[in-house]
Amino acid sequence: MAGITIGSLRCLPGRKLNGYLPVVSRLDSTLLGIPVMIVAGRLDGPVVLVDGAIHGDEQEGPLAIAAFARELDPLNMRGAFIGVPVMNVGALEAMARGNPRDTHSFDMNRIYPGRADGFLTDRIARVHHSEIGAVADMEITIHSGGNICYLAETIFVGRGDEKGLELARAMGPDWSIVLDTPRPSGSPMAAMLERTRTAITVELGGSAATMPGALQGVVEILRRSLRNVCRHYGMIDGTPLYADRLWRGQQKVVQASMSGLLEPNPSIPLKLPIRKDEFLLRITDLFGAPAEELRSPCDGVLFGVRTYPSVTAGDWALFCADAVLRPAATS
Ligand SMILES: [Zn+2]
Repeated sequence: MAGITIGSLRCLPGRKLNGYLPVVSRLDSTLLGIPVMIVAGRLDGPVVLVDGAIHGDEQEGPLAIAAFARELDPLNMRGAFIGVPVMNVGALEAMARGNPRDTHSFDMNRIYPGRADGFLTDRIARVHHSEIGAVADMEITIHSGGNICYLAETIFVGRGDEKGLELARAMGPDWSIVLDTPRPSGSPMAAMLERTRTAITVELGGSAATMPGALQGVVEILRRSLRNVCRHYGMIDGTPLYADRLWRGQQKVVQASMSGLLEPNPSIPLKLPIRKDEFLLRITDLFGAPAEELRSPCDGVLFGVRTYPSVTAGDWALFCADAVLRPAATS
């Protein structure tokens, strides 16, 4: 293939290149930019882009992307892998969902693809979109529950997007929950679909799984899933594996109506079937008295839970899906 050119970064076929795309300069003249890892195969094939840390408190993607890019051998590869371990460096430095220095376009996953003459995060998103997204055939954006939630293996695709569903299945047997997003907007997936290319949004991990052993487990799942994607599209050798059955439906997020503390529920049925109105979590007031019972809004599956005990009315508390488990071939 011809190699990959992103801004001033030019990676020749059969080579690897790590570098930064500059966006703006900080007060001390250092550049704030976007880190990019390019692995350009020797032969033609698809160009797969994988993004991490569009939310700065989601550090599973950065670790998995860097590890996967390092294991790839460009001499034995078709197509190219582009890894952006951290989309929002300012947010990662601040250990927060967005960059606190930018209160106007704080959440990059709401304002993407941004504007060249916009606020700080707008400008970073625009460079990502116009320089990196432009050269990709497919895009996987990795999220997690961040500082406040844990999300089990779940993939979002655009509703009716067959190519997105194929990419979701290519992630392999760890991913049995694949949910439809009716009207994607403000995200890399939305922008990629606008370009009539292929994109998915992936969720795994969060603060409850950042002890070293647990985090290593999450990173290893993501890494083998990226390997499975490259095998599915013939980019690297090896036999891809697939989930036999998929939960298919849409997410139904439960927000707290009361403020208080979440009572631990060790038997919460994460990744298991749930029934409408099933009890899942209790909020107590600060004196321990019951304040609210959080129940499933639908039959389906529970794929995420708030892990930060302090809860304020309106906060995300439960991530349910009105999904049905079906053989993957009929999904
Ligand atoms: Zn996120």
